[in-house]
Amino acid sequence: MLSRFASRLSRPASASLKGFSALAEDSPFMELRPAVTMYSEEETAVRDMVKTWAQQELAPHVREMDREGAMRPDILKSLFDNGLMGMEIPEKYGGSEMNFTSAVIAVEEIAAVDPSFAILVDIQNTLTNNALRFWGSEELQEKWLPRLATDTASSFCLSEAGSGTDAFAMKTTAIPSPDGSYYTLNGSKLWISNSKEAGVFLVFANAAPEKGYKGITAFVIDAETEGITVGKKERKLGLKASSTCALSFEDVKVDASCVLGEVGMGYKYAIEILNEGRIGIAGQQLGIAKGAFNATMPYLRERKQFGTSIGDFQGMQHQVAQLATEIHAVEVMTYNAARMKENGLPFVKEASMCKLYSSQVAERVASKCIEWYGGVGFTEDIIVEKFYRDCKVGSIYEGTSNIQLQTIAKIIANEW
Ligand SMILES: Cc1cc2nc3c(=O)[nH]c(=O)nc-3n(C[C@H](O)[C@H](O)[C@H](O)COP(=O)(O)OP(=O)(O)OC[C@H]3O[C@@H](n4cnc5c(N)ncnc54)[C@H](O)[C@@H]3O)c2cc1C
Repeated sequence: MLSRFASRLSRPASASLKGFSALAEDSPFMELRPAVTMYSEEETAVRDMVKTWAQQELAPHVREMDREGAMRPDILKSLFDNGLMGMEIPEKYGGSEMNFTSAVIAVEEIAAVDPSFAILVDIQNTLTNNALRFWGSEELQEKWLPRLATDTASSFCLSEAGSGTDAFAMKTTAIPSPDGSYYTLNGSKLWISNSKEAGVFLVFANAAPEKGYKGITAFVIDAETEGITVGKKERKLGLKASSTCALSFEDVKVDASCVLGEVGMGYKYAIEILNEGRIGIAGQQLGIAKGAFNATMPYLRERKQFGTSIGDFQGMQHQVAQLATEIHAVEVMTYNAARMKENGLPFVKEASMCKLYSSQVAERVASKCIEWYGGVGFTEDIIVEKFYRDCKVGSIYEGTSNIQLQTIAKIIANEW
């Protein structure tokens, strides 16, 4: 196949385009390839279903949950009932057995209505469920995947007070018992999303501190285990309905069967799963950008100044066109990264790029939407101020923007 392609490429420059297309008619290289934004029938059904669900079940309660700083349990239950918490979990475990792209679509559509619920769905699907699917023993999978798919939310517990970006400098230890049958965890985690709702924690702790990061081990731990305390919720700028708490571990004893994969491989699992997770965060940021944009466009027609709709001013139209272009770029980048991952291609650079750029675009779009609304955009009467608050963390969690730049730069340096 490659040689046929090469012979076409080496045709004389004078050959006409007509001749070229005739030559190429029966070429396998002229086969139609789907655009990145052409979704399969199943993916389109997921998008339609989640959009409807979010409008009907979530949208009416978003403001109330933001004000109260808590999620409604009935909405959390509805996420499970609709199969949105076990998107890639196999049907045999009660999951929806869909692809990664579908999970990102779900995160995007939920974020367009409430980014707090989007981060819950994102962490569950792209981090916890997948870590268990990839590295969990049969025993761990049989115990937890059916619950994760049907009624148990989860948290990903990596960060600590002294170790954020430098995550592997963690101080939490998991010391093995003399016979290796159990581990005792001591230490504390910080910034743990969904920890008030979670029934299971994926915890990273060092089982051999003398080995440095090579001692880091991942544990799947029942939230009810004695010795675990979930602290009070942080009072945050945005994502207020999402609980973000400190966790402390005081002589927490967990059976050796709670180890995810191999002892000492936790650092590798964390890196790998966060690489994928970044595509999910890009989905969240894309949803935020679209949510703010869609909430603003009708107003540009309705609102009149100088006797005309403000959307008719060229100064406004150019801004709208610029941001619509950037949103499209984020969509293409995000779903292309998802497709690369699904196809088993290297995707780390593209995941960092879409995470970085999506957070910048979401912030720019939400900010401009407030401006386009004028004074009323600065009030709680209009939802865009919430999108503006909610998007900021997109440049902080799952690797800050500086770290995405560092990752991209490192890969480029290796390419050259
Ligand atoms: C709302 C929210 C939810 C979160 N949820 C979770 C969760 O569920 N689980 C979890 O484990 N963690 C969670 N986090 C933690 C989050 O991942 C960390 O905040 C993030 O990794 C940054 O760590 P840090 O806050 O310690 O900042 P630091 O690491 O102290 O960084 C501070 C600044 O220094 C910069 N910096 C640091 N190192 C470098 C470097 N080498 N080069 C250039 N710049 C650098 C950073 O980019 C940043 O701008 C959450 C955080 C928030 C705010």
